[in-house]
This record gives sequence, structure tokens and C-alpha cells, in this order.
Amino acid sequence: MRKPFVCGNWKMNTDRKGAVALAQGAAKTAGEVRGVEVGVCPPACYLEAVLGAVKGSALVVGGQNMHFEASGAFTGEVAGPMLKELGCQYVILGHSERRREFCESDELIAKKLRAVFTFSLRPILCVGETLKEREANQTMAVVKRQVISVLKDLPVDHACQAVIAYEPVWAIGTGRRALPHDAQEVHAFIRGLLREIYPILPPPKDCLATSTPAESVRIIYGGSVTPDTVYEQMLQPDIDGSLVGGASLKADGFSKIITESARAKGL
Ligand code: PEP
Repeated sequence: MRKPFVCGNWKMNTDRKGAVALAQGAAKTAGEVRGVEVGVCPPACYLEAVLGAVKGSALVVGGQNMHFEASGAFTGEVAGPMLKELGCQYVILGHSERRREFCESDELIAKKLRAVFTFSLRPILCVGETLKEREANQTMAVVKRQVISVLKDLPVDHACQAVIAYEPVWAIGTGRRALPHDAQEVHAFIRGLLREIYPILPPPKDCLATSTPAESVRIIYGGSVTPDTVYEQMLQPDIDGSLVGGASLKADGFSKIITESARAKGL
């Protein structure tokens, strides 16, 4: 079974003290609920404080964005090796807020995704349709374009390490969420795409992967996840966790999201 993954995306919120307190709360729950991998993605300026505060715990920490170059004249950007040196394991790529507010294209996100493995970080790749696209029945076409354009040339052992977050844009920060059955349909579709990109072939000689991306990639849901709705969502077979924005900013609520996720998966 894929280990469920619950990850908080704090966006541009918290202060240093609040970030440390939130992370310590998440680390405590991560230690108690070992069957679920728990992560947080604080603002870049608090990563060091958070990582210091949860050192030695089961909590994993990620960046919210990364440049594809390892260093250089890119004012305001954060490089993968910088995240890695601090102790991050993950980085969110292609979040819809970055696609929308900072004009990130599929091509740019594909460049970041190829680079992320060279920095020994794991991507949380966000995909999802806008309301307009959903209403035009384009959900599957949009998700397919976003997944294929980014993953198509990726070696199988890299692909196995990726986490994909299906985040319908209309559900992010709006209080509206995809119904569990509707989200499951998209997650199953994404798993099918992974099967198409990586059919079951004998793995290349130097491949480190022990299973196929379709089996091993965690596909998590994001979009107004709350402690009260996550259980039902996590009952779905292809929903392997959550990317949680607003509800990850309250320690008690985030902790309940983790325990409810474990309960739904019988852990
Ligand atoms: C997100 O930021 O990825 C997100 C899903 O936010 P929220 O949970 O607030 O909708």
C-alpha cells in the first residue's frame, strides 16, 4: 500500500514564532501516527527555524517553490540546493497560485521538475482545472496536458518519487471542494496516465525503482480540505493524502486531518 501523505502548504502566512509552534504540533502528531507521512511547507524565510525546531522528528519539510537553476542571477528566487542544504525533502511545483499569479507555464514547470531530482528533492506537482475549464468539460484534458507535459521524459525511478496533487483551482481557498467520488475519478484518471507513460516493461538495468509509477506515486487531493471532510475523501482508493492550505494553519485541525486520514485507510 502507498503510505498516505498529508502536507500543509502555509503559503505566505505565519510569523516565525507561529511557524515553529505549528511545526512542533505537526511533528508531535507525525510521531504518533506513523502510518501517515506528514509534511509542512513553510515560507522560505522560516524554513531554517522550522527545520531546527523539528530536527529528529518524523515530520518532513518542503519548500513552496524552486528555480530550475542551481544558482545564478535570479533575484528573489530560491534554488533547490539551498532547500536541500537546509534539510528540505520536498518542494511544491506548479501550484495554481504560481501558474496564475506568476505566469508559470507547463514548460517552466517541466524544467523545474527535471531539475528537482538533480538536487535530491522530491516534487509535489500540482495540477488541476479552473472553474471555466470544468464547466466546459475540459477537466480530464487539462489534467492530462499538465501531467504529460511535465512527466513525459522523466526516468522511471524519478517518476516513482514524485507526489502529484490534484487541486481543482475552483476549490482552493474557496470552501468549495470536489466531492469524493468526483475527485476519485480524476485521481484514477491520473493513475491511468502514469500507466500509459510508464507501461509495465522490464525496468532498465540501472533503474532503482522497485515498482511502477502507477503503483507507487502518491496522488493527493487539495482544495478546501477540512478535518470534517477528509475522512470521506480518504476512503477513495486512489486518494493517497491531502495538500492542505488554510486548514493547516491551525494545529488542532491539521492534527485531526492526519488522524482522520489514518482512520480512513485503516491504519
Ligand atoms: C493549497 O494551497 O494547495 C490549498 C489546497 O489550499 P486550501 O486548502 O486553503 O484550499
